[in-house]
Amino acid sequence: MCGFVGLIGVQNASHEVYTALQSIQHRGQDSAGIATKKGNHFRISKDLGLVHQVFSQSELQRLEGTCAVGHVRYPTAGTGSREDTQPFYSRRPGIIIAHNGNIINFEEIKKYLLERSIYLSSRCDVEPVLHVLASAVTVETKSNYNIDDVIKALRITYDIVKGAFSIVGIMNIDGVDTMFLGRDPSAIRPACYGRKGDSWIAASESVCLDVLDFHLEGYVEPGEVIFFTPGREPVHVSIKKKSARHCVFEHIYFARPDSHMDNLSVYHTRLDLGKALAKQWLQKHSSEEIDVVIPVPDTSRPSAIAFSETVGVVHREGFIKNRYSPRTFIMPDQDSRMKALKLKLNPIDTEITGKNVMLIDDSIVRGNTLKRITQVLRTKNPASVHLGIYSPPVVNPCYYGIDMSLKKELIACNFLENLGIISQWPEKGDLEKLENALAEFLGVDSLTFLSRDALFEIFSENHCMACFDGNYPVEITDDYLKIIEQDRNAVRCRVPDNF
Ligand code: SF4
Repeated sequence: MCGFVGLIGVQNASHEVYTALQSIQHRGQDSAGIATKKGNHFRISKDLGLVHQVFSQSELQRLEGTCAVGHVRYPTAGTGSREDTQPFYSRRPGIIIAHNGNIINFEEIKKYLLERSIYLSSRCDVEPVLHVLASAVTVETKSNYNIDDVIKALRITYDIVKGAFSIVGIMNIDGVDTMFLGRDPSAIRPACYGRKGDSWIAASESVCLDVLDFHLEGYVEPGEVIFFTPGREPVHVSIKKKSARHCVFEHIYFARPDSHMDNLSVYHTRLDLGKALAKQWLQKHSSEEIDVVIPVPDTSRPSAIAFSETVGVVHREGFIKNRYSPRTFIMPDQDSRMKALKLKLNPIDTEITGKNVMLIDDSIVRGNTLKRITQVLRTKNPASVHLGIYSPPVVNPCYYGIDMSLKKELIACNFLENLGIISQWPEKGDLEKLENALAEFLGVDSLTFLSRDALFEIFSENHCMACFDGNYPVEITDDYLKIIEQDRNAVRCRVPDNF
């Protein structure tokens, strides 16, 4: 889970990138970085922390140039150390690069590079991609690279690199500064682009275009790379194409609701998910059973609105989120975890006490935070608490850049195992057993997951739903599983206790 922005043909590009990065801070709070190019000079600045913590005004002024790449990081590969922060830079040829996603054959690429005496300085998985590309560009041509040299090098890179990635970079091609934006062959991770006058923007989410007043022009196709130069039409090149499999979790949880992804409004998709959940809930329950529909803020708000409209029960805010509360890290005991949650999310007693509450949330991954939320809710003495989750149970890890890569961390998997249910996807009876067991664990009177069929109706087959149905678009090797376990164990010491 990361976010990037690229700009070309813009005065004070670093300042603009800084603004856009703040609009996608939700995609990564671990580190931030900006790299610029002015003539033959590349400048780069990156560190651990939030965007506003990493950059001062003077630092942004130092980052001169009309083209820039920026990045916010949440580590799903590597250990999240300072060395792993993006963007990365190659001196020969001069390229700055940033990505969002997971490269699943890091060790294989590292070996390929070592055979060419190219060494890495981090565990960040975009660094080997950069060096494969740089080495492929320079192997035949020594300088003055043209677009054919770069396309040929990209084809080599796409043959070597496997995984889910969107990538943005800037380099000199055909004598002019050029920005390129690419997506993996299945377009799993998001990438869009837009225009303002002669300038171009590339970004993980369309909200970056909104804040900088760019017009959304489109989305990168599977396996496509697009080249942008100021004042010219973009050049689209298909490098290595498979069927599209865009990540549904972006719509369920991760992306901002005001973003559009691959022609879908995230906000409207969340409304559809809430409506579908309500229809399903009404098959087992009646609207008389609940007095109020309350979202777990912020992601679930649109779905809670649609749920309330569909069942005909009022929608209210039940929690106030403290915008200024700092990040909470994994805490040693239950008491400190509860205090940290209350600081972040305080319940509104007038909407809860004595009422039959329908709580709506996006997903259950590890279940820890949701359990604490229901405990906090119970302190206000509701008559009953029903829980609706507008996605199916997460029963498979994600290896493509969302922070749920270990099966042992997925609470639905652990419960299925304890219930003796061995299946990639729990069918109706088994699903009910899982819902009942999880409801008891979470301290709620009932739990309803969105069905897999309802999810399939909302999202076309052009979407990845592997964490729900186990149908992975990119094959995962045992070696990669070992690496990811090592990395995640190291990262667990540092990252916030999300989900
Ligand atoms: S496995 Fe799930 S979270 Fe990962 S890319 Fe696919 S849909 Fe998204």
